[in-house]
Amino acid sequence: MSTEVLPGSDTRQDTDIRPDLSPGDGDHERFAHYVQKDKIVDSAVSGTPVVALCGKVWVPSRDPKKFPVCPDCKRIYDSLPAGEL
Ligand SMILES: [Zn+2]
Repeated sequence: MSTEVLPGSDTRQDTDIRPDLSPGDGDHERFAHYVQKDKIVDSAVSGTPVVALCGKVWVPSRDPKKFPVCPDCKRIYDSLPAGEL
């Protein structure tokens, strides 16, 4: 099993992800989805997929900072109370 450094393992809040939607990019694998941090940590340990706010199941093995925020996740996240994630 390889060891990967994933966002969310530090003390910084990951709420500063800026939407940077690219027109025509419909590949959901290339979106950064919102996931509860403890779920990300668990996934990092076990390698199991996590469920994003939008319902997408995937393994967050990429750096979400490199990808535009999933519009569905963003909409749901914006509707949540602050600090919900
Ligand atoms: Zn999403």
